[in-house]
Amino acid sequence: MNRKKPKIRSLPDPAFASILLAWFDHSATEMPWRGQRDPYRVWLSEVMLQQTRIAAAESYYRRFLERFPTLQSLAEASLDEVLKLWEGLGYYARARNLHRVAQLIVNEHNGQFPASAEALQTLPGIGRYTAAAIASIAFGEAVAVLDGNVVRVLTRLMDIPDEVSQPAVMNRLWAVASELLSPKRPGDYNQALMDLGRMICTPRRPACQHCPVREFCLAAANGTMEQRPVKKPKAPLPQVRAAAAVIRDQAGRLLLVQRPEHGLLGGLWMLPGGHCLPGESYVECLQRSLMELVGIEIRAGKEMAATSQTLAHFRLRLRAFACELVAGTPTGETRWAWVSSTELSRYSLGKADREILERLEQWQPRLFEEC
Ligand code: SF4
Repeated sequence: MNRKKPKIRSLPDPAFASILLAWFDHSATEMPWRGQRDPYRVWLSEVMLQQTRIAAAESYYRRFLERFPTLQSLAEASLDEVLKLWEGLGYYARARNLHRVAQLIVNEHNGQFPASAEALQTLPGIGRYTAAAIASIAFGEAVAVLDGNVVRVLTRLMDIPDEVSQPAVMNRLWAVASELLSPKRPGDYNQALMDLGRMICTPRRPACQHCPVREFCLAAANGTMEQRPVKKPKAPLPQVRAAAAVIRDQAGRLLLVQRPEHGLLGGLWMLPGGHCLPGESYVECLQRSLMELVGIEIRAGKEMAATSQTLAHFRLRLRAFACELVAGTPTGETRWAWVSSTELSRYSLGKADREILERLEQWQPRLFEEC
């Protein structure tokens, strides 16, 4: 027996926004930034939520605001302190941009956030999505957001069979997002659509039976929900080998160096070392890197720990070796420090370095004292 397809209400339809908002008013999730109109707090939550799960972002958000309750306090902090509070959240360019933008707003905008999406987009690290989120939630500007959750919901509502990263498809999605927006409650509407994508219209097995806007959804009617959005297949990530040196001074302190501010994990501290060049052994890599970074000659001994990490554009395999200083003392432009065990927690380290240090401590509890 042929089942009759349900009748679908076509979009745009003004009822869409009111149905979605009624659902949001009833089901909105409690989050520490919900109900905020302070642009500083809205901005902070939006930046933290990029690439981060809500549960993980919540504790960082609270700690960050305890230490930096105002834009002014963030602007006056050192970058080291900001990075330390950000440690573990990843994508550290976000923290560097927060710090930079806070200083720019305090110094060049009299401490006042620009109040439109267009003006917000002129600030470092604030793209079209973040600008629209801040402008709609904090200032009530009628601008639509389009993040991964919204893309998924819209491509399903319209059952778009085309690959979404194509500019023409993205332009169409931005246009539809704007058409559907509630001009009266743009901030709530944007949050409602993002909540719908996160809670109901999930990447796998969307809960269509609980979806408030199912009557508008072509993909649900056609049974193609899980095939939308259509994405480009991901190319496998290249592998990068890296070596780190565990070097102690006479007092048992570890040598750490600071990464340059611009670049991968910029501003964080690390065990000295670097990425291996093609054909270079780990030991050769360490000898070259230590000379380049801090002008010292080392002898590499046994491997002490290893870890792997997936970063945005490659997969890292990091191996740490016990090393001895053969000649020279640290010098040069790279910031470096001999760090004792009690001082270590003050330094912001990337995930791979932190893991290596934890492993070293497990295997050799008196790591810092033995020399
Ligand atoms: S009906 Fe299903 S696929 Fe369509 S928007 Fe709702 S949850 Fe997503």
